[in-house]
Amino acid sequence: MASSNQSQVTSHESPVVHPAVIGLEIHVQLRTRTKLFCGCAPNFGDPPNSAVCPVCLGLPGALPVLNAEAVALGVRAALCVGASVQRESSFDRKSYFYPDLPKGYQITQQAHPLALGGGISIESSGRMVKIMRVHIEEDAGKSLHGGVPGSEDWTCLDFNRSGVPLAEIVTAPDLTSPEEAAELMRLLWQKLTFAGVTTGRMEEGALRCDANISVGGKGRSEIKNLNSFRFVEKALAFEASRLAAANARGAEPARETRLFDPDSGETFPLRGKEALEDYRYFPEPDLPPLVIADGLIEEQRHLMGEQPEARRERFERDFGLSPYDAGVLTAQPEAANYFEAAVTSGAAPKAAANWVMSEVLRAAKAHSGEWDRLSVQPEELAFILGEIASKRLTNTFAKELFAEASTSGRKLRELILEKASAPSGGDEALRSLIEEVLKSETAAVGDYRAGKQKAFGFLVGAAMKKSGGKADPAAIKKILEEKLKT
Ligand code: ZN
Ligand code: MN
Repeated sequence: MASSNQSQVTSHESPVVHPAVIGLEIHVQLRTRTKLFCGCAPNFGDPPNSAVCPVCLGLPGALPVLNAEAVALGVRAALCVGASVQRESSFDRKSYFYPDLPKGYQITQQAHPLALGGGISIESSGRMVKIMRVHIEEDAGKSLHGGVPGSEDWTCLDFNRSGVPLAEIVTAPDLTSPEEAAELMRLLWQKLTFAGVTTGRMEEGALRCDANISVGGKGRSEIKNLNSFRFVEKALAFEASRLAAANARGAEPARETRLFDPDSGETFPLRGKEALEDYRYFPEPDLPPLVIADGLIEEQRHLMGEQPEARRERFERDFGLSPYDAGVLTAQPEAANYFEAAVTSGAAPKAAANWVMSEVLRAAKAHSGEWDRLSVQPEELAFILGEIASKRLTNTFAKELFAEASTSGRKLRELILEKASAPSGGDEALRSLIEEVLKSETAAVGDYRAGKQKAFGFLVGAAMKKSGGKADPAAIKKILEEKLKT
């Protein structure tokens, strides 16, 4: 019950509405081939504890070796948010006890982070949200509570995620509403996936957010580990009204760390914040200072490629797309790349845009977002659109073929040869089909010749039916008219 606290606000006192002050700490999983300090694979979904070694298990005496690929992607993440990369940064140990943290500390960057400053402009309000810092750190392992068959009341530990490289992006407390916070996270997701910094797979935890919020300058809650845009908005909305209600009562809300329960839509306390503040940071003795060469920054600026806003503007300008269409197509890099490849293969931009926004997006969703597994690739979409434009395929039949190719995984050209060669393959096939219709529907032909216009529609329908819905109605009408004249 989101309003259990609010209901205590009595109606005669009009509560002063204070704006929320929100800041986000966003953890991004970097798209590397190996973990941050060892050669283990950082892949999601591998069998538990199959990608571990003495380093990421934190065994005594094991030494970390910094992954250059993670540093490069960290630099790219910093450039995406306009932060300035520091020539020299360093690593620290953040000590805390938790079963999924076998070393008893996390290697992070505290005193001298990889990058400082920067900002992201919120599109809906035009406001600039400042970025405080960007740093690199390792992820912890994962506790599986009760999810293991045969030992439902146990907590099991999976260390595959231990040592996975993260970039942490920290905003200033510049956000004023839950909606704005969710929008910032979406914008960040877009920037980072377009730049190839992360896979962006939210269901795998590629982007996770800790949100700090206070209302009316009092209380401050930190909501941990929000792993979807919707959860960010819902959790903050709940927390904002909870803190506002406490203010209205004159209560001083505790400074605490909370968790969000998606089922109830509520946040609940995890632990008191004051008990946790002492992480006893100190410099990591096993890693030298991190020195970034000018060349690396320039290289990463180049590899970052075109950012989503620039791409959207280019789609509008070069392809004549509406702002809405350009926005949908540049909402994710795969859609933008697919569309652009189809156009490069000769597709008309407007038709390609319509198909990508409907049929292709639907197919990609059915393939869990794995665009490279789509059976109809951009060149083939361009081919279908060409067939439609030259009236060899109807739009409806082309969509059927596309859907069938997508679900069966069969090659589109094969399907077209097999199914469409007869009626839509050319005039000859269609002419003989229509002749057959005229032979069998003698009554309708008689009616038409006697002046009944309705009979013409009937004959078109009969021919359409005989073609299995694959023929172009306009072509049927044309041939029918010719044949009925004689
Ligand atoms: Zn390892
Ligand atoms: Mn962190």
